[in-house]
Amino acid sequence: MGAALRVTGASRSFGGVYAVREVDLTVEPGELRAVIGPNGAGKSTLFALIGGQLAVDSGTVVLDGRRIDRLAVHRRGKLGIGVVFQAARIFPGMTALENVMVGAHGTTRAGFVTAALRLPRFRAEERAIEARAWECLARTGIEEWADRPAETLPLGQQRALQLARALCGRPRLLLLDEPASGLRSGERKRLAALLGELRREGLTMLLIEHDVGFVMRLADRVTVLDLGRVIADGTPEQVRADSTVIDAYLGE
Ligand code: ADP
Ligand code: MG
Repeated sequence: MGAALRVTGASRSFGGVYAVREVDLTVEPGELRAVIGPNGAGKSTLFALIGGQLAVDSGTVVLDGRRIDRLAVHRRGKLGIGVVFQAARIFPGMTALENVMVGAHGTTRAGFVTAALRLPRFRAEERAIEARAWECLARTGIEEWADRPAETLPLGQQRALQLARALCGRPRLLLLDEPASGLRSGERKRLAALLGELRREGLTMLLIEHDVGFVMRLADRVTVLDLGRVIADGTPEQVRADSTVIDAYLGE
């Protein structure tokens, strides 16, 4: 079986300064890969190059054998890339349930506009999406917030909401950018349990996280970025034993 994701020689600079430089990254199907590194290492930029929020200056991004680096964000979404951004992105003025349903609309025939118009031929599909949205709210533990306006949810619940929305789109590859940041200890435990469960179900995930302990327990493999470059790549044990990593990051 081929790689789920293959990034080759990816570079991106801003004003002449590299944020991501010649990065190679291969993720196998069903793998949970952690991406760690100090602030400004290029982690979020790398995710944006995969998700399509930013274009590569050079290099390629291949998802399930298909080149995607020239595709727009929504096309990559339809091919199965789900994203949980570092900063909470919710749709204000919509309930939590509606926010989650948007996640599925990106991946079905019933687009958001047709859903809003409630065209009869899409009603059955719409009901299926709503049922799925409820499941995703339950999995992320925010079922009781379903009917609240999304912007009134506390931070932890807004983060869970983004994860619920991404899951509702049935991603093949889920990108999570510091999903545990700002969460209380109980919420972090719950998130770790859910990520472990998704991993056992075979979902391929890329996880940026600042809390090294959190990722070392969860990840199959760890990639370490520093100044836009990959400085180490291996199992949590290998990375922990790597002196370059300790100097750049873990020892700080
Ligand atoms: P990380 O997520 O690892 O903290 P980022 O990918 O956010 O790092 O940033 C990597 C580098 O790229 C930083 O020096 C940051 O200032 C720069 N950078 C990121 N996005 C932009 C942007 N849109 N415009 C200019 N510089 C950026
Ligand atoms: Mg970041």
